[in-house]
Amino acid sequence: MTNLPLIKLNDGATMPQLGFGVWQVADDQAAGAVKTAIASGYRSIDTAAIYGNEEGVGRGIKAAGVARSDLFITTKLWNDRQGRDEPAKALAESLKKLKLDYVDLYLIHWPAPKQDRFVDSWRALVALQQQGLARSIGVSNFTAAHLTRIIDTIGVVPAVNQIELHPRLQQKPLRDFHATHGIRTESWSPLGQGKLLDDPVLAAIAKKYRKSTAQVILRWHLDNQLIVIPKSTHEERIRENFAVFDFKLEPADLAQIDKLDANGRIGPDPDRFS
Ligand code: NAD
Repeated sequence: MTNLPLIKLNDGATMPQLGFGVWQVADDQAAGAVKTAIASGYRSIDTAAIYGNEEGVGRGIKAAGVARSDLFITTKLWNDRQGRDEPAKALAESLKKLKLDYVDLYLIHWPAPKQDRFVDSWRALVALQQQGLARSIGVSNFTAAHLTRIIDTIGVVPAVNQIELHPRLQQKPLRDFHATHGIRTESWSPLGQGKLLDDPVLAAIAKKYRKSTAQVILRWHLDNQLIVIPKSTHEERIRENFAVFDFKLEPADLAQIDKLDANGRIGPDPDRFS
């Protein structure tokens, strides 16, 4: 069994540094993909209510036959369930679909600032953690301004902020803010949704290490202490993306990748998306 690195969260819990993302995996495909991922060594699964595949994920978890305590399951509160009372109902629905008694991490999916309900939502998540329904709580797509507002108002610092992060969008100022406040950074679309895989700089580094470009990009995330959740539905790629614990990038190669930072956002702007 691979020695999967664990990241310590600010509430004392630990989270696998590499997990399996299931965005855009259909519900009837999710069970097979999750089962394959867990059989390949993954222990962390990242889903969300809006992905529409929590039932499939739940079936995959059961089929994998690994003890619940050895797994780390994340799901997320969708924007239309934000507010004071809705998050408790939304998490209850997610748990029912996942066939779980608790999630390891519950995230507010987007700040959706136009609704201006993320402070109330954060208060609700704090209560859900106290009830043991979410072992850890965090946010996703929050900017430093959104984070400052919930921390100052509620006084509880999120364990994680899951944000778009890859070599073309390295989010250095936000990562510095996280480090100052004890928030772990989790990279979504870590491979740039596959768009980074033909980058010549990354391909040349991959050749040097006799690894795939995807493996080099994932190693860059790991070497930068980021939590990372690549997605694939192909068995060989699911395995390939997990086979990243037998090498490390040299400082010169990390520095070359650092130079690819280009404000290359693929997903929505968190200040506008609702
Ligand atoms: P990703 O960066 O993980 O890229 C996935 C794509 O890359 C695949 O569809 C495939 O085309 C390709 N790919 C993957 N492994 C490969 C390999 N070894 N070789 C060749 N091609 C490969 O993109 P993603 O799915 O957008 O992001 C990963 C996860 O992040 C999602 O599944 C989801 O769990 C999470 N996510 C969260 C948010 C959010 O708002 N919080 C948004 C997007 C994604």
